[in-house]
This record gives sequence, structure tokens and C-alpha cells, in this order.
Amino acid sequence: MNDPENWGFATLGIRAAELRSGEREHSPAIHLTSSFVFENAAQAAAVFAGTEPGNVYSRFTNPTVRAFEQRLAAMEGGDSCVATASGMSAILATFMSLLRAGDHIVASQTLFGTTINLCNNILAKFGVETTFVAPDDLQAWRSALRPNTKILFVETPNNPLTDLADIRALADIAHDAKALLIVDNCFLTPVLQQPLKLGADIVIHSATKYLDGQGRCMGGAVVGDAERIGRDVFGFMRTAGPSMSPFNAWVFLKGLETLSLRMRAHCASAHRLALWLREQPAIAHVYYPGLPDHPQHALAQRQHGRLGDDADAPVAYGGIVSFEVKGGREAAWRVIDATKMLSITANLGDTRTTITHPATTTHGRVPAEARARAGIKDNLIRLAVGLENVEDICADLATGLNAEAAAWPRG
Ligand SMILES: *Cc1c(COP(=O)(O)O)cnc(C)c1O
Repeated sequence: MNDPENWGFATLGIRAAELRSGEREHSPAIHLTSSFVFENAAQAAAVFAGTEPGNVYSRFTNPTVRAFEQRLAAMEGGDSCVATASGMSAILATFMSLLRAGDHIVASQTLFGTTINLCNNILAKFGVETTFVAPDDLQAWRSALRPNTKILFVETPNNPLTDLADIRALADIAHDAKALLIVDNCFLTPVLQQPLKLGADIVIHSATKYLDGQGRCMGGAVVGDAERIGRDVFGFMRTAGPSMSPFNAWVFLKGLETLSLRMRAHCASAHRLALWLREQPAIAHVYYPGLPDHPQHALAQRQHGRLGDDADAPVAYGGIVSFEVKGGREAAWRVIDATKMLSITANLGDTRTTITHPATTTHGRVPAEARARAGIKDNLIRLAVGLENVEDICADLATGLNAEAAAWPRG
């Protein structure tokens, strides 16, 4: 039987929570309205009181936004999803809903730079402390636990060094301590990794990245159980208002339709690019979980999805490849500036390959010693591999890399 419970990711991305109004449109409608009208005063009172279902105001419910939320929840295997204005507001909404003054977070020290700043500069002001640990050091996670630890927070693979964390092991550590494990699943998306199935309690997304997939809209989402997400995070959203716009929700809905196809293509190209980069004399090190010498290559093989539907299809290792050039910041900047096609920008998850110098952009506001602890050196370059032909990406990078190699010894 063709039961939606058994649909694959490509089908879920296209068919889950299909939105159709009385007009019988095929592509979902954008319900671009701030409020909703009622037949009469009594119906308005009933919907406001929650005794009759219905939309009131787009700060908290909107049909296009709800279709996106339900489709993403189906793909992640969660009961509830709340869409937000950005990935950062998804993280903020989760923390504000689940924490109070005096609580403690243990987080990976290699998180997205702004997430680290959110913990250190904003949560700290409200009496929530964060301890940062190496994502792959399970003993460090255990040692950092305190009686008031409520949340363990991790990204895997992380940005920009592609370290992995063992979701199942961290879920066990969290649950032994009566804490929750939250996974930022931005880099693999539900197509290639479903943290809830591995024991995590909550999944966070920056929809801005792969869910959109073409670098157009800002958005975020929180996925998990009905109580914490459907009630608590939704309640925060309703009151505090970092809501997703219906227009953006429509863009993300359309993005989900091609997510499965795109993720596999990003990963296949990134793997080929990583192998090519490793052969370049001007490069000192390549970070990519698909390389056999990556410290968590075996974990990636267990934890990640595959490039095809067959059980023996190659493992997907993600669309992000980072590398260190020989030399320092100047050499890295020369290699970046020599590209003509790649986009010099900090976004990722786009059809267009982007090239970034993390130490002076995405992680530029992280204090230098925290950056060093996270292993982000001045000669590091991050590539978020797009959907162009890989040969053209290599050719564009080759200009700067070959010039570096030819200039040795640089006097
Ligand atoms: C971009 C990003 C975020 C923040 O999302 P925004 O949509 O930019 O607010 C959070 N986590 C990760 C891993 C990201 O890459």
C-alpha cells in the first residue's frame, strides 16, 4: 500500500502536507495576509478562545507557513515544527522557551560563530551559562555537565572544519543527565541525517541554507515533540514574534521539493572536489568527512545517509569542503581573490559555489583564542560546493593555487 508513513525523502519533500485551497491550484498558494476574517463575532470569539480551529493572525499561524512546517516535520520524523524568521531566531526561540535564569548549556566549541555569540553575549546576560567542549570528546561533554545543565547543543558536521559528533552517544549522555540534545541539522538536512531517529530531542534548521537552496530567503525552523515545540516554542513565537513570512515559507516549500536531488548532487561534487584539492601542491590540508584520513570518517559512514536509494549507494559526506593553503592569511586571501566564478560570500547551501575566509568573516567576531581552540586558522578557506560542473569549480580555484605553488619560495 502507498502509505505516506513509508514515503521516501524525495516523495515527502514533494507531497507531504500538500496545500490546496478551494481554487484547486496545483502549486501551493502564498497566503500573503497578516490577519484572517470571521463570519461573525461569535466565530471570532470561538477561534480566539481556541474552541474552534482556524487562523487568527500570521504572527502565529498562516496556511503557507504551516504547510512548510508540516512538510519539514514529516521529513525529520518530528511531531511538531515551528518556522521562524531566521536560523538564529529558531535557536533563540528554542533557548527562550526551554531555559530560565540559572540554567546551563553544554555546547560544541565549533558551532556556527553567531550561535557562540548568542550564548556568550546574550544568554549570559539573562543568567544562562554555556560551557564549550570539543564535539568529538565524549568525556569532555560528560565532565562539563552540572546539576543545572538543561541542554546539550551540537552541529554535525560542523562549520567550517567538518568535524562530526556522535548523535546517538550525545543523546545518551544528555538523557542520563535529564537534559535535552539539540542538533543543528543545517549541513546535512533531513535527507542525509535525521537526528530525532538517532535519539536527539530537537532539530534546528537555518532554512536560509539548503532548504531554500538558491540563496534567496532568510528562515529557520525548530522540529521536535508536540509539548516542547508545539506548545512551548510555538507559545514563545506567538508572543515574541520572530515569525516566518508566508512568502519565504512558499520559497522554502518549493525548495523542499528538490532538496533530495540537490543534496545528493552537492555531496557528490564536494567529494570529487575534496579529492582534487588534496592533490594540489599549494594546499596543506583538506577537511572533508569523505576522505579516509578524516578523524570521523567511520562515524560519517554510520551516521550519514547515502547518495542514492539503494543500500549500497555511496555514503554522503556533505557539501562543505575546507582547506588550509600553505602560508598565512595573505596566501588564503590571494587564492580567494584569484577566483573569477566562485562567489566570495559567507552564505552556503546555494546552487552557486561560495568561497569564504572564516577567520575574518563568519568567525571574525569570535575572540581569537576561542577561534584558535576551535582550530580555525588564518590560512583556512571554506567552500560550500554548489551545483556548477565540478571541472569548472576546480579550474576557477586552480588559477590561485597554481600561482601560489609557482611563487615558492616566496621572498
Ligand atoms: C547560517 C547558520 C545558522 C544561522 O542561520 P541564519 O538563517 O543565518 O540566521 C545557524 N547554524 C548554522 C550551522 C548555520 O550555517
